[in-house]
Amino acid sequence: MKDYKFDTKAIHSGYEIEKSTHSVVPPLYLTNAYQFDNVDHAQSLFELKEEGNIYTRLQNPTNDILEKKISELEDGVGALAFSTGHAAIFNTIINLAENGDEIVSSNQIYGGAINLFGVTLERLGIKVKFVNPNNLDEWENAVTDKTKAFFFEIVGNPNASVVDIEAVASIAHKNGIPVIVDSTFTTPYLCKPIHYGADIVIHSATKFLGGHSAVMGGIVVDSGKFVYKNNKRFPRYNEPDQSYHGIVFADLKETAFIARLRALIMRDIGASLSPFNAFMLIMGIETLSLRMRKHCDNAKRVAEYLLSNPNVSFVNYPSLENSPYKNLADKYLSNGCGSVFTFGLKGGRETGKKFINSLKLFRHVANVGDVRSLVIHPATTTHSQLSSQQLIDAGISEDTVRLSIGIEDIDDIINDLEQAINIATNK
Ligand SMILES: *Cc1c(COP(=O)(O)O)cnc(C)c1O
Repeated sequence: MKDYKFDTKAIHSGYEIEKSTHSVVPPLYLTNAYQFDNVDHAQSLFELKEEGNIYTRLQNPTNDILEKKISELEDGVGALAFSTGHAAIFNTIINLAENGDEIVSSNQIYGGAINLFGVTLERLGIKVKFVNPNNLDEWENAVTDKTKAFFFEIVGNPNASVVDIEAVASIAHKNGIPVIVDSTFTTPYLCKPIHYGADIVIHSATKFLGGHSAVMGGIVVDSGKFVYKNNKRFPRYNEPDQSYHGIVFADLKETAFIARLRALIMRDIGASLSPFNAFMLIMGIETLSLRMRKHCDNAKRVAEYLLSNPNVSFVNYPSLENSPYKNLADKYLSNGCGSVFTFGLKGGRETGKKFINSLKLFRHVANVGDVRSLVIHPATTTHSQLSSQQLIDAGISEDTVRLSIGIEDIDDIINDLEQAINIATNK
Protein backbone atom coordinates (compact mmCIF):
# COMPACT_ATOMS: atom_id res chain seq x y z
CA MET A 1 0.00 0.00 0.00
CA LYS A 2 3.07 2.24 0.38
CA ASP A 3 2.54 4.17 -2.87
CA TYR A 4 -1.09 5.05 -2.22
CA LYS A 5 -2.22 8.33 -0.69
CA PHE A 6 -3.69 8.80 2.80
CA ASP A 7 -7.41 8.45 2.02
CA THR A 8 -6.80 5.21 0.14
CA LYS A 9 -4.57 3.77 2.86
CA ALA A 10 -7.12 4.66 5.55
CA ILE A 11 -9.57 2.32 3.84
CA HIS A 12 -7.35 -0.46 2.47
CA SER A 13 -4.18 -0.66 4.60
CA GLY A 14 -3.70 -3.52 7.01
CA TYR A 15 -6.00 -6.02 5.31
CA GLU A 16 -5.69 -8.27 2.28
CA ILE A 17 -8.81 -10.13 1.13
CA GLU A 18 -8.82 -13.38 3.11
CA LYS A 19 -8.32 -16.46 0.96
CA SER A 20 -10.70 -18.59 3.02
CA THR A 21 -13.71 -16.25 3.36
CA HIS A 22 -13.18 -13.66 0.57
CA SER A 23 -14.64 -11.11 2.98
CA VAL A 24 -14.26 -7.52 1.77
CA VAL A 25 -14.73 -5.92 5.18
CA PRO A 26 -11.98 -6.94 7.65
CA PRO A 27 -13.44 -9.82 9.70
CA LEU A 28 -14.02 -9.58 13.43
CA TYR A 29 -12.22 -12.46 15.16
CA LEU A 30 -13.72 -12.85 18.63
CA THR A 31 -11.17 -15.56 19.39
CA ASN A 32 -8.76 -16.17 22.26
CA ALA A 33 -6.52 -19.10 21.34
CA TYR A 34 -4.97 -20.49 18.17
CA GLN A 35 -4.10 -24.12 17.43
CA PHE A 36 -0.41 -24.99 16.97
CA ASP A 37 0.57 -27.22 14.02
CA ASN A 38 2.75 -29.34 16.31
CA VAL A 39 5.02 -29.03 19.34
CA ASP A 40 7.94 -27.61 17.33
CA HIS A 41 5.66 -24.92 15.87
CA ALA A 42 4.42 -24.01 19.35
CA GLN A 43 7.98 -23.73 20.65
CA SER A 44 9.13 -21.60 17.76
CA LEU A 45 6.19 -19.17 18.29
CA PHE A 46 6.98 -18.90 22.01
CA GLU A 47 10.64 -18.16 21.27
CA LEU A 48 9.65 -15.38 18.80
CA LYS A 49 11.47 -17.28 16.04
CA GLU A 50 8.33 -17.34 13.94
CA GLU A 51 5.39 -14.93 13.72
CA GLY A 52 1.92 -16.22 14.49
CA ASN A 53 -0.99 -16.12 16.87
CA ILE A 54 -0.67 -17.70 20.31
CA TYR A 55 -3.25 -16.03 22.56
CA THR A 56 -5.28 -12.83 22.11
CA ARG A 57 -3.54 -10.99 24.96
CA LEU A 58 -0.47 -11.06 22.66
CA GLN A 59 -1.98 -11.03 19.15
CA ASN A 60 -5.37 -11.21 17.49
CA PRO A 61 -6.07 -11.19 13.72
CA THR A 62 -8.53 -8.24 13.94
CA ASN A 63 -6.26 -6.22 16.24
CA ASP A 64 -3.45 -7.00 13.80
CA ILE A 65 -5.35 -5.30 10.96
CA LEU A 66 -5.89 -2.20 13.09
CA GLU A 67 -2.23 -2.14 14.16
CA LYS A 68 -0.93 -2.49 10.60
CA LYS A 69 -3.35 0.16 9.33
CA ILE A 70 -2.39 2.81 11.87
CA SER A 71 1.30 1.95 11.57
CA GLU A 72 1.13 2.52 7.79
CA LEU A 73 -0.80 5.78 8.23
CA GLU A 74 1.89 7.04 10.65
CA ASP A 75 4.81 5.65 8.58
CA GLY A 76 5.91 3.50 11.51
CA VAL A 77 7.42 0.00 11.59
CA GLY A 78 4.82 -1.51 13.91
CA ALA A 79 2.03 -0.76 16.34
CA LEU A 80 0.33 -2.28 19.36
CA ALA A 81 -3.28 -1.71 20.41
CA PHE A 82 -4.31 -1.21 24.05
CA SER A 83 -7.62 -1.17 25.92
CA THR A 84 -7.49 2.64 26.39
CA GLY A 85 -5.29 5.61 25.57
CA HIS A 86 -4.16 5.74 29.17
CA ALA A 87 -3.06 2.11 29.07
CA ALA A 88 -1.08 2.94 25.91
CA ILE A 89 0.70 5.78 27.72
CA PHE A 90 1.42 3.85 30.93
CA ASN A 91 2.70 0.76 29.15
CA THR A 92 4.89 2.85 26.84
CA ILE A 93 6.50 4.56 29.84
CA ILE A 94 7.21 1.31 31.67
CA ASN A 95 8.75 -0.14 28.51
CA LEU A 96 11.39 2.60 28.82
CA ALA A 97 11.62 3.50 32.51
CA GLU A 98 11.62 1.84 35.92
CA ASN A 99 12.06 2.69 39.59
CA GLY A 100 14.71 5.42 39.89
CA ASP A 101 14.31 6.72 36.33
CA GLU A 102 12.98 10.04 35.05
CA ILE A 103 10.73 11.31 32.26
CA VAL A 104 10.46 14.90 31.04
CA SER A 105 6.93 15.90 30.06
CA SER A 106 5.13 18.94 28.72
CA ASN A 107 2.87 20.50 31.37
CA GLN A 108 0.18 21.13 28.74
CA ILE A 109 -1.23 17.65 28.37
CA TYR A 110 -4.39 15.68 29.08
CA GLY A 111 -5.40 16.18 32.75
CA GLY A 112 -5.55 12.42 33.28
CA ALA A 113 -1.97 12.07 32.03
CA ILE A 114 -0.80 14.77 34.47
CA ASN A 115 -2.31 12.67 37.29
CA LEU A 116 -0.84 9.42 35.93
CA PHE A 117 2.61 11.02 35.74
CA GLY A 118 2.52 13.12 38.89
CA VAL A 119 0.81 10.65 41.23
CA THR A 120 0.95 7.02 40.13
CA LEU A 121 4.32 7.03 38.32
CA GLU A 122 5.80 9.03 41.18
CA ARG A 123 4.62 6.34 43.64
CA LEU A 124 6.24 3.69 41.45
CA GLY A 125 9.54 5.59 41.69
CA ILE A 126 9.48 7.13 38.19
CA LYS A 127 9.94 10.88 38.51
CA VAL A 128 8.26 13.05 35.88
CA LYS A 129 9.63 16.56 35.45
CA PHE A 130 7.05 18.91 33.92
CA VAL A 131 8.23 21.69 31.60
CA ASN A 132 6.68 24.44 29.51
CA PRO A 133 6.81 22.72 26.10
CA ASN A 134 7.54 25.98 24.25
CA ASN A 135 10.57 26.82 26.40
CA LEU A 136 13.42 24.78 24.88
CA ASP A 137 15.80 25.61 27.75
CA GLU A 138 13.43 23.90 30.18
CA TRP A 139 13.61 20.65 28.18
CA GLU A 140 17.40 20.88 27.98
CA ASN A 141 17.87 21.69 31.67
CA ALA A 142 15.57 18.87 32.81
CA VAL A 143 17.79 16.16 31.27
CA THR A 144 19.85 14.00 33.64
CA ASP A 145 21.61 10.62 33.33
CA LYS A 146 18.34 9.03 34.41
CA THR A 147 16.08 10.58 31.75
CA LYS A 148 14.39 7.88 29.65
CA ALA A 149 11.95 9.83 27.46
CA PHE A 150 10.45 13.17 26.45
CA PHE A 151 6.64 13.31 26.29
CA PHE A 152 4.31 15.93 24.79
CA GLU A 153 1.12 16.50 22.79
CA ILE A 154 1.57 18.34 19.44
CA VAL A 155 -1.65 20.22 20.00
CA GLY A 156 -1.90 20.45 23.78
CA ASN A 157 -4.95 19.89 25.96
CA PRO A 158 -6.99 21.99 26.47
CA ASN A 159 -5.66 25.28 24.98
CA ALA A 160 -4.51 23.97 21.59
CA SER A 161 -0.93 25.16 22.19
CA VAL A 162 1.39 23.82 19.47
CA VAL A 163 4.83 22.33 20.18
CA ASP A 164 7.86 22.75 17.92
CA ILE A 165 8.34 19.01 17.41
CA GLU A 166 11.66 19.22 15.52
CA ALA A 167 13.27 21.52 18.07
CA VAL A 168 12.27 19.38 21.07
CA ALA A 169 13.22 16.15 19.25
CA SER A 170 16.68 17.49 18.45
CA ILE A 171 17.36 18.18 22.14
CA ALA A 172 16.20 14.65 23.00
CA HIS A 173 18.23 12.96 20.28
CA LYS A 174 21.39 14.92 21.09
CA ASN A 175 21.10 13.29 24.54
CA GLY A 176 20.20 9.80 23.28
CA ILE A 177 16.62 10.06 24.55
CA PRO A 178 13.50 8.85 22.67
CA VAL A 179 10.58 11.20 21.99
CA ILE A 180 7.00 10.13 22.75
CA VAL A 181 4.25 12.18 21.11
CA ASP A 182 0.59 11.89 22.13
CA SER A 183 -1.03 12.70 18.78
CA THR A 184 -4.64 12.10 19.86
CA PHE A 185 -5.88 15.59 18.86
CA THR A 186 -4.11 15.54 15.51
CA THR A 187 -4.44 11.96 14.18
CA PRO A 188 -2.14 10.97 11.30
CA TYR A 189 -4.38 12.94 8.93
CA LEU A 190 -3.34 16.29 10.45
CA CYS A 191 0.25 15.49 11.42
CA LYS A 192 2.70 12.59 11.16
CA PRO A 193 5.00 13.22 14.13
CA ILE A 194 7.50 10.57 12.97
CA HIS A 195 8.37 12.81 10.00
CA TYR A 196 9.52 15.47 12.47
CA GLY A 197 11.53 13.27 14.84
CA ALA A 198 9.01 11.50 17.09
CA ASP A 199 10.18 7.98 17.98
CA ILE A 200 6.93 6.73 19.47
CA VAL A 201 3.42 7.99 18.65
CA ILE A 202 0.46 7.36 20.94
CA HIS A 203 -3.25 7.77 20.26
CA SER A 204 -6.26 7.63 22.46
CA ALA A 205 -8.24 5.88 19.70
CA THR A 206 -11.29 6.60 21.86
CA LYS A 207 -11.38 10.07 20.27
CA PHE A 208 -11.08 10.92 16.55
CA LEU A 209 -9.87 7.51 15.31
CA GLY A 210 -13.04 5.78 16.51
CA GLY A 211 -14.81 9.05 16.01
CA HIS A 212 -18.25 8.22 17.34
CA SER A 213 -17.73 7.93 21.13
CA ALA A 214 -18.79 4.30 21.02
CA VAL A 215 -15.63 2.41 22.00
CA MET A 216 -12.39 3.03 23.88
CA GLY A 217 -8.92 2.09 22.75
CA GLY A 218 -5.30 3.16 22.61
CA ILE A 219 -2.53 2.62 20.06
CA VAL A 220 1.25 2.88 20.23
CA VAL A 221 3.22 3.25 16.97
CA ASP A 222 7.00 2.73 16.77
CA SER A 223 8.98 4.76 14.22
CA GLY A 224 11.76 2.16 14.28
CA LYS A 225 14.31 4.97 14.12
CA PHE A 226 15.53 5.15 17.71
CA VAL A 227 18.70 3.12 18.27
CA TYR A 228 18.61 1.17 21.56
CA LYS A 229 21.69 -0.92 20.71
CA ASN A 230 24.58 0.11 22.98
CA ASN A 231 22.63 3.15 24.28
CA LYS A 232 23.76 3.45 27.91
CA ARG A 233 20.37 4.77 28.98
CA PHE A 234 18.77 1.43 28.08
CA PRO A 235 20.73 -1.42 29.70
CA ARG A 236 17.57 -3.60 29.82
CA TYR A 237 17.41 -3.57 26.01
CA ASN A 238 21.06 -4.58 25.76
CA GLU A 239 21.27 -7.48 28.21
CA PRO A 240 19.80 -10.97 27.69
CA ASP A 241 16.23 -10.93 29.03
CA GLN A 242 15.94 -13.91 31.36
CA SER A 243 12.15 -13.72 31.33
CA TYR A 244 12.21 -14.19 27.55
CA HIS A 245 14.59 -17.01 26.68
CA GLY A 246 17.62 -14.72 26.94
CA ILE A 247 16.60 -12.56 24.00
CA VAL A 248 18.48 -9.23 23.60
CA PHE A 249 15.75 -6.83 22.47
CA ALA A 250 18.18 -4.22 21.08
CA ASP A 251 19.33 -6.88 18.59
CA LEU A 252 15.88 -6.73 16.98
CA LYS A 253 17.03 -3.29 15.75
CA GLU A 254 14.12 -1.21 14.37
CA THR A 255 11.46 -3.31 16.09
CA ALA A 256 13.20 -3.45 19.48
CA PHE A 257 10.74 -1.12 21.26
CA ILE A 258 7.47 -2.45 19.84
CA ALA A 259 8.55 -6.11 20.11
CA ARG A 260 9.48 -5.64 23.78
CA LEU A 261 6.22 -3.77 24.41
CA ARG A 262 4.26 -6.76 23.13
CA ALA A 263 6.40 -9.67 24.26
CA LEU A 264 7.14 -8.41 27.76
CA ILE A 265 4.90 -5.55 28.82
CA MET A 266 1.65 -6.72 27.20
CA ARG A 267 2.39 -10.27 28.34
CA ASP A 268 2.77 -9.10 31.96
CA ILE A 269 0.28 -6.22 32.25
CA GLY A 270 -2.34 -7.43 29.78
CA ALA A 271 -4.18 -4.21 28.92
CA SER A 272 -5.09 -5.58 25.49
CA LEU A 273 -7.79 -4.21 23.23
CA SER A 274 -10.99 -6.19 22.73
CA PRO A 275 -11.13 -7.39 19.09
CA PHE A 276 -14.67 -6.03 18.96
CA ASN A 277 -13.34 -2.55 19.72
CA ALA A 278 -10.54 -3.08 17.19
CA PHE A 279 -13.19 -3.80 14.55
CA MET A 280 -15.09 -0.62 15.49
CA LEU A 281 -11.88 1.42 15.32
CA ILE A 282 -11.07 -0.01 11.86
CA MET A 283 -14.54 1.15 10.72
CA GLY A 284 -13.85 4.58 12.21
CA ILE A 285 -10.48 5.02 10.52
CA GLU A 286 -12.00 4.25 7.10
CA THR A 287 -13.74 7.67 7.22
CA LEU A 288 -11.06 9.50 9.25
CA SER A 289 -10.01 12.01 6.59
CA LEU A 290 -13.58 12.95 5.67
CA ARG A 291 -14.43 13.57 9.30
CA MET A 292 -11.20 15.41 10.10
CA ARG A 293 -11.69 17.80 7.18
CA LYS A 294 -15.18 18.69 8.40
CA HIS A 295 -14.06 18.86 12.07
CA CYS A 296 -11.30 21.31 11.10
CA ASP A 297 -13.48 23.42 8.77
CA ASN A 298 -16.20 23.71 11.40
CA ALA A 299 -13.73 24.45 14.22
CA LYS A 300 -12.04 27.21 12.23
CA ARG A 301 -15.41 28.80 11.44
CA VAL A 302 -16.43 28.63 15.12
CA ALA A 303 -13.09 30.12 16.26
CA GLU A 304 -13.51 33.01 13.81
CA TYR A 305 -17.12 33.53 14.89
CA LEU A 306 -16.17 33.61 18.59
CA LEU A 307 -13.30 36.02 17.94
CA SER A 308 -15.76 38.39 16.28
CA ASN A 309 -18.25 38.21 19.17
CA PRO A 310 -17.87 41.22 21.53
CA ASN A 311 -18.83 39.11 24.57
CA VAL A 312 -15.86 36.79 24.08
CA SER A 313 -12.67 37.61 26.01
CA PHE A 314 -10.25 35.16 24.34
CA VAL A 315 -10.08 32.36 21.76
CA ASN A 316 -7.18 29.87 21.63
CA TYR A 317 -7.11 28.41 18.13
CA PRO A 318 -3.71 27.92 16.50
CA SER A 319 -4.54 29.05 12.95
CA LEU A 320 -6.03 32.40 14.02
CA GLU A 321 -3.87 35.34 12.92
CA ASN A 322 -3.47 36.51 16.55
CA SER A 323 -2.44 33.09 17.88
CA PRO A 324 1.12 32.80 19.25
CA TYR A 325 1.16 29.34 17.62
CA LYS A 326 0.25 30.51 14.09
CA ASN A 327 3.76 29.89 12.67
CA LEU A 328 4.04 26.45 14.24
CA ALA A 329 0.53 25.60 13.01
CA ASP A 330 1.50 26.65 9.47
CA LYS A 331 4.57 24.42 9.65
CA TYR A 332 3.16 21.28 11.30
CA LEU A 333 -0.61 21.42 10.74
CA SER A 334 -1.12 22.27 7.09
CA ASN A 335 -4.20 20.01 6.87
CA GLY A 336 -5.92 21.80 9.78
CA CYS A 337 -5.57 22.37 13.52
CA GLY A 338 -8.13 19.91 14.80
CA SER A 339 -11.33 20.76 16.59
CA VAL A 340 -10.47 20.92 20.30
CA PHE A 341 -9.74 24.38 21.70
CA THR A 342 -10.72 26.84 24.41
CA PHE A 343 -12.30 30.25 24.74
CA GLY A 344 -13.60 32.50 27.50
CA LEU A 345 -16.61 34.78 27.98
CA LYS A 346 -16.41 38.22 29.53
CA GLY A 347 -17.98 37.92 32.99
CA GLY A 348 -15.85 34.97 34.07
CA ARG A 349 -16.87 31.79 35.79
CA GLU A 350 -20.60 32.49 36.39
CA THR A 351 -21.18 33.61 32.80
CA GLY A 352 -19.33 30.53 31.58
CA LYS A 353 -21.50 28.29 33.75
CA LYS A 354 -24.70 29.88 32.46
CA PHE A 355 -23.39 29.54 28.90
CA ILE A 356 -22.76 25.79 29.24
CA ASN A 357 -26.15 25.26 30.90
CA SER A 358 -27.87 27.14 28.04
CA LEU A 359 -26.43 25.12 25.13
CA LYS A 360 -28.96 22.84 23.43
CA LEU A 361 -27.07 21.08 20.64
CA PHE A 362 -23.69 20.71 22.37
CA ARG A 363 -23.30 17.66 24.61
CA HIS A 364 -21.85 18.48 28.03
CA VAL A 365 -19.38 15.60 28.51
CA ALA A 366 -15.85 14.68 29.56
CA ASN A 367 -14.75 13.68 26.09
CA VAL A 368 -13.40 15.05 22.81
CA GLY A 369 -13.17 13.95 19.19
CA ASP A 370 -16.79 12.91 18.69
CA VAL A 371 -18.90 13.58 15.56
CA ARG A 372 -21.12 15.49 18.02
CA SER A 373 -20.10 18.93 19.29
CA LEU A 374 -19.02 18.79 22.94
CA VAL A 375 -18.40 21.31 25.71
CA ILE A 376 -16.87 21.25 29.21
CA HIS A 377 -15.47 23.55 31.93
CA PRO A 378 -11.93 22.13 32.53
CA ALA A 379 -11.18 23.81 35.89
CA THR A 380 -14.06 21.99 37.63
CA THR A 381 -13.90 18.70 35.69
CA THR A 382 -11.15 17.26 33.47
CA HIS A 383 -8.42 19.27 35.18
CA SER A 384 -10.04 19.58 38.65
CA GLN A 385 -7.49 17.30 40.31
CA LEU A 386 -4.68 19.70 39.39
CA SER A 387 -3.24 22.14 41.92
CA SER A 388 -3.81 25.84 41.30
CA GLN A 389 -0.18 26.14 40.14
CA GLN A 390 -0.65 23.21 37.73
CA LEU A 391 -3.78 24.94 36.39
CA ILE A 392 -1.81 28.14 35.77
CA ASP A 393 1.00 26.11 34.11
CA ALA A 394 -1.54 24.41 31.86
CA GLY A 395 -3.01 27.82 30.97
CA ILE A 396 -6.44 27.08 32.44
CA SER A 397 -8.37 29.91 34.07
CA GLU A 398 -11.71 29.98 35.91
CA ASP A 399 -13.49 31.14 32.76
CA THR A 400 -11.88 28.70 30.31
CA VAL A 401 -14.48 26.75 28.30
CA ARG A 402 -13.28 23.82 26.17
CA LEU A 403 -15.05 22.97 22.93
CA SER A 404 -14.72 19.90 20.73
CA ILE A 405 -16.43 20.86 17.50
CA GLY A 406 -18.35 18.07 15.75
CA ILE A 407 -19.36 17.57 12.15
CA GLU A 408 -22.95 18.83 12.36
CA ASP A 409 -24.06 21.67 10.05
CA ILE A 410 -21.99 24.75 10.84
CA ASP A 411 -25.05 27.05 10.93
CA ASP A 412 -26.67 24.94 13.65
CA ILE A 413 -23.44 24.89 15.68
CA ILE A 414 -22.95 28.66 15.52
CA ASN A 415 -26.64 29.38 16.19
CA ASP A 416 -26.50 27.25 19.32
CA LEU A 417 -23.36 29.02 20.57
CA GLU A 418 -24.91 32.41 19.86
CA GLN A 419 -28.20 31.79 21.66
CA ALA A 420 -26.31 30.45 24.71
CA ILE A 421 -23.90 33.42 24.73
CA ASN A 422 -26.89 35.77 24.56
CA ILE A 423 -28.60 34.10 27.52
CA ALA A 424 -25.36 33.98 29.55
CA THR A 425 -24.61 37.66 28.94
CA ASN A 426 -28.26 38.74 29.48
CA LYS A 427 -28.91 39.94 25.96
C1 LIG B 1 -8.52 10.97 26.18
C2 LIG B 1 -7.07 11.21 26.07
C3 LIG B 1 -6.15 10.33 26.63
C4 LIG B 1 -6.58 9.11 27.42
O1 LIG B 1 -7.21 8.19 26.59
P1 LIG B 1 -8.37 7.19 27.11
O2 LIG B 1 -8.71 6.44 25.87
O3 LIG B 1 -9.47 8.04 27.66
O4 LIG B 1 -7.74 6.34 28.16
C5 LIG B 1 -4.81 10.60 26.47
N1 LIG B 1 -4.39 11.69 25.80
C6 LIG B 1 -5.25 12.56 25.25
C7 LIG B 1 -4.72 13.75 24.52
C8 LIG B 1 -6.61 12.36 25.37
O5 LIG B 1 -7.47 13.24 24.83
